[in-house]
Amino acid sequence: MAGPKALVAGNWKMNGLTAELKEVRLLADMLKGVRLGCDVMVCPPATLIRPVVQLLGSSSIKVGGQNCHAAASGAFTGDISAEMLEDAGCSAVIVGHSERRARHCETDAIVRAKAEAARRAGLAAIICIGETLEQRESGRTLEVVSGQLAGSLPPGFGSADTVIAYEPVWAIGTGRTPTPGQVEEVHRQIRRDLIEMAGEEQGSAIRVLYGGSVKPDNAEELLGCDNVDGALVGGASLKAADFIGIIKAYA
Ligand code: PEP
Repeated sequence: MAGPKALVAGNWKMNGLTAELKEVRLLADMLKGVRLGCDVMVCPPATLIRPVVQLLGSSSIKVGGQNCHAAASGAFTGDISAEMLEDAGCSAVIVGHSERRARHCETDAIVRAKAEAARRAGLAAIICIGETLEQRESGRTLEVVSGQLAGSLPPGFGSADTVIAYEPVWAIGTGRTPTPGQVEEVHRQIRRDLIEMAGEEQGSAIRVLYGGSVKPDNAEELLGCDNVDGALVGGASLKAADFIGIIKAYA
């Protein structure tokens, strides 16, 4: 049975000034008229969401946010709600990225509340999970990933509102990647867990992305792994040429 349609999403993190809009223009130009075997999304910093949406116009490239607050509005200085992201033209939002879990003390419960907020606003939540190096080295990878998954998924989740991104923390921004065997072991477990929680049909249809040092030269190998339905890409999504090099794994 064919798996879900793949998604390649670029997480720009806290990178990008107006000048970098040229990379989005380049990306749109390079993909114009190309029949893609995957969906493509860019997640720029909040300041660039509106200009990116405007620039992409009728292009099939989607735009996502990098984080949201669980509330729709209120006295939360500096925060951004899922409704605001939707209003700005986003169709998805990343929640629970390991940088936010580690540096902003986001627990599974907080991530789950954000995923619920995303659904409330009509956005898909890209829920990130993944083990630290210490957890992997102590043989706890599957237990950690399953625990984060169960704790971060909102009740009633399904393939229309949920994407999972497995991102080993030790692979993010380091140039280190798991072996295909290690990727498949974790993705198999995630798929099993999703089916157990959401049933065969929904659990099989939810996209499970791999993230962590995906580059043009390793994309084919990593994205060719069983149960990998695309990539969440950090550093290599900042330059259109590199990002396209990854998207080409689905050409
Ligand atoms: C990320 O931060 O989601 C990520 C995958 O980063 P990188 O590709 O740079 O490792």
